[in-house]
Amino acid sequence: MSVERSTIEKAAKAIANADRIALACHVGPDGDALGSMLGLAIAASNAGKEVVASFGSPFAVPPSLSFLPAQLLVPPQDFPDAPEIMIVLDAGSQERLGELGSNASDADVVIVIDHHVTNEGFGDISLVDPTAAATGELVYEMLRALDWKITSDVALCLHTALVTDTGRFSYSNTTPHTLRIAADLVEAGAEPNLVGRHVYEEEPFGYLKVVAVAMDRAVLDRELRVVYTWISDQDLRSLGLSWGETENMIDLLRLAVEADTAVLAKIHDDGRVKVSMRSRGETDVGGLAAAMGGGGHRLAAGFTVEDDVEAVLERILNAVGDHR
Ligand code: 5GP
Ligand code: MN
Repeated sequence: MSVERSTIEKAAKAIANADRIALACHVGPDGDALGSMLGLAIAASNAGKEVVASFGSPFAVPPSLSFLPAQLLVPPQDFPDAPEIMIVLDAGSQERLGELGSNASDADVVIVIDHHVTNEGFGDISLVDPTAAATGELVYEMLRALDWKITSDVALCLHTALVTDTGRFSYSNTTPHTLRIAADLVEAGAEPNLVGRHVYEEEPFGYLKVVAVAMDRAVLDRELRVVYTWISDQDLRSLGLSWGETENMIDLLRLAVEADTAVLAKIHDDGRVKVSMRSRGETDVGGLAAAMGGGGHRLAAGFTVEDDVEAVLERILNAVGDHR
């Protein structure tokens, strides 16, 4: 791994010496953000630390991740204003913490554990390894450095982080190291069928209907090899769904083999448009997202803007060629 051993040891020492630890992950947490945060939180609590974990508003755990042990999770308003040690997980920038960004500004020590190429290098101790498949891999390394026990709860959280960020160990970020960690986690008591069932095999019936709406609207630009569509708060409301239940929709859109790049725009009532992008390899969507004010990885990235969806999609179509 590309994080210096001395940096890991420095972070491990700071964590081991702290009595109270506050953990935060990026807003709208996915399996890696929530799994790596809760895994580290539970291990810290087992080691006798006073622990809280949270993420910025909207404070809602996606239904597909509600199986994770979340007893240490608190709403952002209960997060300490100026934590002694704040550990930030899976966030490439302080902005991605939402309102908890100001708590990071006021913390004594901020330790950042992340794997985004676009990570801005914020925090006092920065453990950023873009070659790690998931932030969960780096948390696993940290637990080893701390010599903290990986209980079955911790293992389930970290296994979920690995499974979700590697597309069930099928994306190009999956390495022998990833699989060895996964094997250790399963040995430690993570049940693969739990994450498999909750994350990939269960959706409310309304999800099928909103998929039908979104896929009916999908446009394939054969020349640019981009497939794109949009869904709105209004679509979700009429089917009784929440945004957390649309996490897997981009995986359907990008099945279109004619396209290298898939773009899903999520239109919120307040005027924000949150864009998710995926690439088969030709397009650096991380670079494209960064150019639009967001970030992510080469093959999976996103950004949020306040604009008309037509204008946003047009900007993406105009810029995609610059990132190939
Ligand atoms: P998703 O499309 O699943 O929401 O996100 C894919 C990847 O892009 C994730 O690694 C996520 O961290 C990153 N990403 C998504 N939205 C944003 C955003 O608004 N800003 C930044 N910096 N990264 C984002
Ligand atoms: Mn991640």
